[in-house]
Amino acid sequence: MNSHISDRIQSVNQQIEAACEQAGRSRDSVQLLAVSKTRSADEVRSAVEQGLTHFGENYLQEALDKIEALSDLELEWHFIGPIQSNKTRPIAEHFDWVHSVDRLKIGQRLSEQRPDGMAPLNICLQVNISREESKSGCDPDEAPALAKTLSELPGVRLRGLMAIPAATDDPAEQHRAFADLRQLLEQIRTELPDLDTLSMGMSGDLIPAIEEGATIVRIGTALFGPRAPKPATTID
Ligand SMILES: *Cc1c(COP(=O)(O)O)cnc(C)c1O
Repeated sequence: MNSHISDRIQSVNQQIEAACEQAGRSRDSVQLLAVSKTRSADEVRSAVEQGLTHFGENYLQEALDKIEALSDLELEWHFIGPIQSNKTRPIAEHFDWVHSVDRLKIGQRLSEQRPDGMAPLNICLQVNISREESKSGCDPDEAPALAKTLSELPGVRLRGLMAIPAATDDPAEQHRAFADLRQLLEQIRTELPDLDTLSMGMSGDLIPAIEEGATIVRIGTALFGPRAPKPATTID
């Protein structure tokens, strides 16, 4: 098992390096976030032994169990799934980053519920960049005003934007969606110059994402292999 994951990590790192080189960017400018949803704590531990340190989770209860099981390790945990407002407290208490803030109420609750003595919670505003019906993420037109308000909350630190563009195999369309998110960040940065994060790119499109400026790529399948269907017990 270990050899498989080490081969996959190596291959993903090679893709990131090649894309950085192609784009004239330094390798340090892109963070690999290993998306460990549905993977066991033991699988995450193997990935840590291979050098990975940043993990992304979508399902709260599953994530809390893993964070607890791996509390002997120095890891950075990112929440990347849809958020119900009654689930914000454990997210504020146990995570370092949240990529999926798409409305003010969620940002306000995370800010209020971030425990005293912890650094502000890093957050990204999730944008529905492809303007898909019934998709998570705020409307791109609303992003600048929402970003401004989120940036004023004391318990969170707005870092940038996140998107999951419409699925497509067409490289031109992949590039267009990522470029749209980058341009939106550039526009918002005229008012909020500290924003430094573009969370975009998954296993199938990490190269165009990096070429368009991704600073965090969220990679699951390419690191851990295909996911089994989510077991019913992890629904929360
Ligand atoms: C599952 C997931 C990923 C990883 O997807 P892969 O295609 O397995 O790399 C990235 N981002 C989000 C928000 C996800 O839910």
